[in-house]
Amino acid sequence: METKRPSTRFAEAFPEYHTSYCETHRQKMLQLAERQSPGAMVLSCCDSRTDPALLFSCEPGDVFVHRAIAALVPPLDSPVGACIRAATCYAVESLQVRDLIVLGHTSCGGISALVRGVENTPLEDWIRVAEPVLARARALNPDADAQSLGIACERLAPVFSLKNLEAYPWVARGLKDGSLSLHAWLYSLREGELFAYDFATESYHQLP
Ligand SMILES: [Zn+2]
Repeated sequence: METKRPSTRFAEAFPEYHTSYCETHRQKMLQLAERQSPGAMVLSCCDSRTDPALLFSCEPGDVFVHRAIAALVPPLDSPVGACIRAATCYAVESLQVRDLIVLGHTSCGGISALVRGVENTPLEDWIRVAEPVLARARALNPDADAQSLGIACERLAPVFSLKNLEAYPWVARGLKDGSLSLHAWLYSLREGELFAYDFATESYHQLP
């Protein structure tokens, strides 16, 4: 039997969402059609297994999301950072989100590409952003094989992204006046566990 194309399945699922959610939350959806006021922004990987709305049981209007391979946030002056600069500036200045959460994850194909190396593909331009992460992982684990390096990079990357975010002027302003908090989280796919980076101990601890 021929399997349905995903696009067909999605199109068929939409009326069910509209009936089961939107029509039963009609007032909320009418308000959301006028304006959104999400409390948080999540910067996550494009990976199909790490949808923040699913992971954190969000409803429409709860979370503003930007997704990029390996959940990387480039340095402020990066030539590939325009989209993230725009999204974070809008979230902080216009939507006034209170939390910015970088959500890395294990078994990340982007981090694997960083360690393995990818040349002459569009991915190369993007993943090169994380070269300092790989260099740091190598320095900390000089004898590590590729798999161990990948694990080290997965743990270092959200912290690297968070440090880059701190230098964005609109983020720095929010941090200074206390209206904004930054978080580096790591989602462990196999174990189904969530970890937050603690700068005081320079390690991850499990949430909640
Ligand atoms: Zn990923």
